[in-house]
Amino acid sequence: MFNAIVLTKDEQGVHARVQALDEAQLPAGEVTVRVAWSTINYKDGLAITGSSPVVRSYPMVPGIDFAGTVESSSHPDWTPGDAVILNGWGVGEAHWGGLAQKARVRGDWLVPLPAVFSLRQAMAIGTAGYTAMLCILALEKHGLQPGDGEILVTGANGGVGSVAILLLARLGYRVVASTGRPEAADALHALGASAIIERAELATPGRPLGKERWAGVVDAVGSHTLANACATTRLHGAVAACGLAQGMDFPATVAPFILRGVTLYGIDSAMAPKALRHAAWQRLARDLDVEKLEAITQELSLSQAIPAGADILAGRIRGRLVVDVNR
Ligand code: NDP
Repeated sequence: MFNAIVLTKDEQGVHARVQALDEAQLPAGEVTVRVAWSTINYKDGLAITGSSPVVRSYPMVPGIDFAGTVESSSHPDWTPGDAVILNGWGVGEAHWGGLAQKARVRGDWLVPLPAVFSLRQAMAIGTAGYTAMLCILALEKHGLQPGDGEILVTGANGGVGSVAILLLARLGYRVVASTGRPEAADALHALGASAIIERAELATPGRPLGKERWAGVVDAVGSHTLANACATTRLHGAVAACGLAQGMDFPATVAPFILRGVTLYGIDSAMAPKALRHAAWQRLARDLDVEKLEAITQELSLSQAIPAGADILAGRIRGRLVVDVNR
């Protein structure tokens, strides 16, 4: 038997509770993992609260990521004792996820834990941090370099935003953090932000083109914020869009794309190909200051992870939440 958060659904809505499950109930997969740590990402908040239809079938074990140790494997890449990470692939949405002491998944979905990280540190990074790195890889592939100018990071106090600031600052970029919580300015400066702007500056309808400012953008927010970020990106600059914390809409014009040659990159972490996710984790191992990450990481037990789902959607969480699934 093992403990897991289990989501069920009835006429009243989605219910989440910690429950003991039999290992025989685990879904099909080549690799059984003893999970050590999972996390609460924004998408986990959507799943646990049932506020958006991310869960495809019930009962579901949520948790879009986990880090743990291989217990048994029929996949050639993995043997018992291997330390592994999982991000996405529909885990916690269509396939039982990481907010549990055990998980069974396809071997191709797993990434080896980089030697510099503990299992806990890997989940302090989690899907949010890995997605921040995917955004940065897209900007780098575009040709962006630290000397090119300011980089805007939106949703700065969130998981994606915080890790993006940490990484960009360490790489030598001048980072401008957009936040609705200016009271956290000191913490954002400590992560490496050079300047802070109020979320409200970008959050309302703007002009098709504004004064050119950003060489690049990491946007976790979507909606008017993303539209305004594109409209104020410099000639031939690039915007990496990964999130929808403000909204899924994109009320923009084509002006930034056709008049300034701005490029908008869509970032999807869940189905990112294996080579790209391996590259992202290797770059995280090289470029992330894990001590600074620890300073913005809070630890939860499995049962504490349930109310944290609503907290992250309400914007009450700063930084990252790791879940000790064995507590
Ligand atoms: P968090 O909740 O940790 O961070 C979101 C941040 O956005 C908040 O901390 C807040 O930052 C800001 N925010 C919240 N509400 C609003 C609002 N109404 N308007 C403007 N800003 C707001 O979530 P994550 O960092 O984990 O994820 C961020 C987004 O990225 C989510 O939409 C998530 O679904 C998406 N995501 C996408 C992935 C992908 O593969 N494409 C993978 C991972 C995440 P502040 O207080 O500083 O303003």
